[in-house]
Amino acid sequence: MIYRGRFAPSPTGRLHFGSLVAAVASWLCARHAGGRWLVRMEDIDPPREVPGSARDILAALPAFGLVADEPLLFQSRRVDAYEAAFRRLRDEGHVFPCWCSRADLAAAGGMHRDGHCVAAPAPSRPPAWRLRVPDKDIVFDDGLQGSQRQNLRESAGDFVVKRVEGFPAYQLACVVDDAWQDVTDVVRGNDLLDSTPRQIWLQRCLDLPTPRYLHLPLAVDAAGRKLSKSEGAHPVDPHDPVPALRRALRFLDVSDDFAADHPEALLARALERFDPHRLPQCSVRSAA
Ligand code: GLU
Repeated sequence: MIYRGRFAPSPTGRLHFGSLVAAVASWLCARHAGGRWLVRMEDIDPPREVPGSARDILAALPAFGLVADEPLLFQSRRVDAYEAAFRRLRDEGHVFPCWCSRADLAAAGGMHRDGHCVAAPAPSRPPAWRLRVPDKDIVFDDGLQGSQRQNLRESAGDFVVKRVEGFPAYQLACVVDDAWQDVTDVVRGNDLLDSTPRQIWLQRCLDLPTPRYLHLPLAVDAAGRKLSKSEGAHPVDPHDPVPALRRALRFLDVSDDFAADHPEALLARALERFDPHRLPQCSVRSAA
């Protein structure tokens, strides 16, 4: 099967260094494998969306030499597919409605583990819907972080797949689209490592294939804080792409010691030397 990788930003701010690292690494891995690289805009969370940021991110990527091989996918246009997946989960008894407030949840130990809501049903307002998780370990081999094991019942609990506002949760939309786009390899930041067992469990409930996963070190600032685009930290400048691209390559331990004044030339030279087995194996790394 031909390698199919993707970069899946959320429109919560401008492209920042951490997302540039994920975009560059997923691009390098796809190109190195002779595969295809896709871009998916994860714009299904209107309350968190920063107006204009989807457009900014999509304009920045080609300025960094990163051009998708297929038309962009906007999750906001795929709500019917998420609803169909949700209905299947509901019809097969995998989900339950939950009216819990934060206080109810805190009183229940911060998590649901028993496959039912602890609050009284409130027919006047819509519930969130949670997926029942098993009391068993989900095991997978991460391409960089090695063998992973997580007991979903202990660590995540029954998690939300459809939110009170009616939007599909990230976990559900991501799994539906990774399958729909035939993604074989997910390369993304380590902040999503602990989402992966939940996604694998969803794939099993929906009879979807599980891609390979590779989680990159999380880029942190000098104080050890995650570079978060929602905090507006460290946007990268698409008008002067080469310095940020060089920093991203160095962050990934890819040599950048050659002259190149265009992002395309820099990426092409980096690709010649790129070996996914030499990516840094740590879980966090300073972006400084
Ligand atoms: N949209 C997610 C984010 O920007 C990433 C999703 C993924 O790569 O699975 O954090």
